[in-house]
Amino acid sequence: MDFKTGIIGSGTSVGGDVDLLIAGGGPAALAAALYAARYGIDHVVIESYQPGGQAALTALIENYPGIMEIAGGDLAEKMKEQAEKWGGVFRMETVTSTTSREEDLVEVKTDSAVYNAKYLIIATGAAPAKLGVPGEDKFYGRGVSYCATCDAPFFKNKRVMVVGGGDSAVKESLHLADFASHLTVVHRRNKFRAEPYLGKKLLSCDNCDVMWNTTVKSIEGGDGVEAVVLNTPDGETRVEVDGVFVYVGRRPSTEPFRELVDLNPDGTVKTVNVVHTSRKNVLAAGDVTDNELRQVVTAVADGARAAAAVFDLMQQEGDV
Ligand code: NAP
Repeated sequence: MDFKTGIIGSGTSVGGDVDLLIAGGGPAALAAALYAARYGIDHVVIESYQPGGQAALTALIENYPGIMEIAGGDLAEKMKEQAEKWGGVFRMETVTSTTSREEDLVEVKTDSAVYNAKYLIIATGAAPAKLGVPGEDKFYGRGVSYCATCDAPFFKNKRVMVVGGGDSAVKESLHLADFASHLTVVHRRNKFRAEPYLGKKLLSCDNCDVMWNTTVKSIEGGDGVEAVVLNTPDGETRVEVDGVFVYVGRRPSTEPFRELVDLNPDGTVKTVNVVHTSRKNVLAAGDVTDNELRQVVTAVADGARAAAAVFDLMQQEGDV
């Protein structure tokens, strides 16, 4: 690797040539880094924020085999420590664009550097989807949130609304219910999409209620959120709340790779055999892909497979 004056974490590195660049900082990227380091592959991981991606924003993970329960952020820290123990190289930058002028080289631009990588693993995950209703952007950070793990303590003994019916909405509602005086879950259908076990737990929560077949029309307030206007089966209604947590799915973070590999109409990376993309030297792993199950356990498995696929390709090319 030819990193001349790179300063880790400062966003002032100068990039360079590298065999493998791993874009992302979530479980898929962290597992890819661990496996790449153990294979002895010259690599660098480009992560934007703290390690863990969306998993780090999950209050409690209870379905990672072998670990009864752990905060998402703690699991991510352990994954990063383990990768670093084996020689994982991390830089805190944001990938902004990628191109491939030569068939076997990818140019990766970040907010502060340019890298030339022989192989790239796209593991940039996904970001929360928005409702797209009036008031959502206006009150973001002033009552509207996409992260219960980060913001729940601000809503101690306050009235909170959660929008959505998937695993994230239900799990994070259970976390919020420990803080809020009252929690209202608003779901557009009459059935949760979440794991049945989680749904049952939420329905037996004492300070929670669920409004089925209901959608959000707008979010209102002054300095902060004061109420949400809802469309219910019985007509329009206004519910006074202090906070609104939006969990209506995720959008893959694939914008910087749009010109590099084939994407599906929903923005996910098109994959073959789990981790292969339309370009031989570009692999993809985790929530950014079109693979169905989106869990920490599948993300880490993808990351390991992607690093192993790079090692295979490097062996075929005589690079290792
Ligand atoms: P999701 O499973 O896609 O659920 C999104 C929810 O939001 C659905 O209930 C959906 O309604 C609703 N929704 C979508 N657009 C909406 C809109 N415009 N207005 C109102 N409601 C809307 O997303 P997620 O919960 O973030 O989970 C993403 C992935 O991560 C899933 O594969 C999930 O299993 C996984 N995950 C797993 C765990 C775990 O602990 N096992 C935790 C978090 C996430 P419909 O139901 O009507 O479609």
